[in-house]
Formats: sequence, C-alpha cells, structure tokens
Amino acid sequence: MIKVDSELLDFISHAAKNTHPNEFAAFLREDKGVISEVVFSPFSIFGKNSSTISHFSLPIDTSIIGTVHSHPSDNGLPSDRDLNFFSHYGKVHIIVRYPYERWNFFFYSREGDFLEYEVL
Ligand SMILES: [Zn+2]
Repeated sequence: MIKVDSELLDFISHAAKNTHPNEFAAFLREDKGVISEVVFSPFSIFGKNSSTISHFSLPIDTSIIGTVHSHPSDNGLPSDRDLNFFSHYGKVHIIVRYPYERWNFFFYSREGDFLEYEVL
C-alpha cells in the first residue's frame, strides 16, 4: 500500500488551489517508504488547462517516485497524454481534481490503475 504524508496532501491541495485555473505539476519524492515531498522542476511548463513536464527535465534522483498534477475540473481520470507520460516515468502518479480537497486525490500506477493509499 502506498503511504503518503498528510501534510504533503495539504501542501498539494494549497498549491493546486493557488495555481487554479491552471494546472499544477511537480514530482513526488519518497522518504523511508512514505511519499513526503514534492519537487518542482524548473522546466515544467504551466499553462491554461495543460501542463507539460519535459522528458528532458526529469530529475536524476532515485528518491523521485512519480508525479502529481492537478486537473482544474471535476475529472480525476488520467487523460491519454497523462497515461502516456505515466508509462514512461515513476510508479505513483497523483491527480488531484477541483476543488482539491482530500477526497479529490486519486493515485494511479504506471499503467493507470487505481492505487490504494494510506494517509499518515
Ligand atoms: Zn492530467
């Protein structure tokens, strides 16, 4: 089961609200088996209703285990582009949809399957 720090979820929630109506995107870092940090890539492109994480900007850091991005809509499902990106990188991908509350977080595997998670 994926473990995630509750303060991190609060942080992501705030970041997504502050970035709305644009998308927020960052990398996830794991510490001692718990997802506990986000890492911003200086090369991330934030735009209206779309964010792009360049493959060239992927951090070379083995503690990075996946990504998080927001959907400024009530759709928490990964898009085709999301699925394509998930399949190339990391093992845990979070999508948080509007209005970015606790129950709006969705965790996906590389294959785009739902992952159960535990908040610590
Ligand atoms: Zn998306």
